[in-house]
Amino acid sequence: MSELYRDTGVVLRTYKLRESDRIVVFHTAENGKVRAVAKGVRKTRSKFGARLEPMSHVRLLLYRGRELDIVSQAEAVEPLSPMLSTLDRASQGLAVLEAVDQLSLEREPNPHLYRMLVGVLRTIAQQPSTLNVAAFYWKLLAHEGMRPQLDACVRCGESEPDVALVAFDLNEGGVLCRSCRSGQAIGPEALRVLRDILGGRLASALAEDASPATHEVSALATRALEFHIERRLKTVAMFESH
Ligand SMILES: [Zn+2]
Repeated sequence: MSELYRDTGVVLRTYKLRESDRIVVFHTAENGKVRAVAKGVRKTRSKFGARLEPMSHVRLLLYRGRELDIVSQAEAVEPLSPMLSTLDRASQGLAVLEAVDQLSLEREPNPHLYRMLVGVLRTIAQQPSTLNVAAFYWKLLAHEGMRPQLDACVRCGESEPDVALVAFDLNEGGVLCRSCRSGQAIGPEALRVLRDILGGRLASALAEDASPATHEVSALATRALEFHIERRLKTVAMFESH
C-alpha cells in the first residue's frame, strides 16, 4: 500500500513520460520539490484538464512512491489565465520557475521558498513591473544568506556618504569604493534601486519605469543568482567526492 498525502504546490515544469502520461515537477508547501506522474494528462479529456501546466498553483492529493509519486487529484488554487495573458507575464513567470527549480531540493521542505514563489507569481499576474524577476532573485539570494553589502565598501569599510561606491563584486559580496574597486561597475541609480529592493522599499522599486538602472539591476541579479547556484553546485560536488 502506498501512502496518500495532501500538499499544495506550483508546477515548475513537466515532461512527457509515455504516450499519454507526464512527469510533473512541483515545488510544494510542505515537501519541497516533488516529482510525480500524472497519468492520462495528455489525453484530451484528462481528469486534470490544463491545471498541470508550468506556473499552475494546485492543491494536490498524491501517492508517495519510491522515486516518483503519483498525482491522484489536482485542483486549481487560482486561475492560470492571468499569467498567460501577456508574453511579458509568461516569460517573467518562467524565469521565476527556473530559479526556483534550481534552488528547490527533492523532498526537502522549504516553505519559505514556496511562499515567495506564490507571492511573486501573484505580483506578476496583478502588477506588471520591469523589476519583478530581479527583485525576486535578490530576495531569494538574501534568503539563501547571500545578501549583498550595499552601504559600505566591502574591502575597506568606507561608508561616508560623499564617498562614491562605484563597483559591485560577486566574489566579495557587495559594493566597493573607487580605490578598492573590482568586479563590475555599478551606477548610483542602480545602487539606489538595489537598496530599495533589499531595504524594505520593494513597492517603490517595483514602481520604477524601465531605465538603464533597472536593466543594470536585472542583469546583475541574473549574474548573482548564477554565481550562487554555481558555487553551491561546486560545494555539493566537493562533499560528494569525499
Ligand atoms: Zn574601499
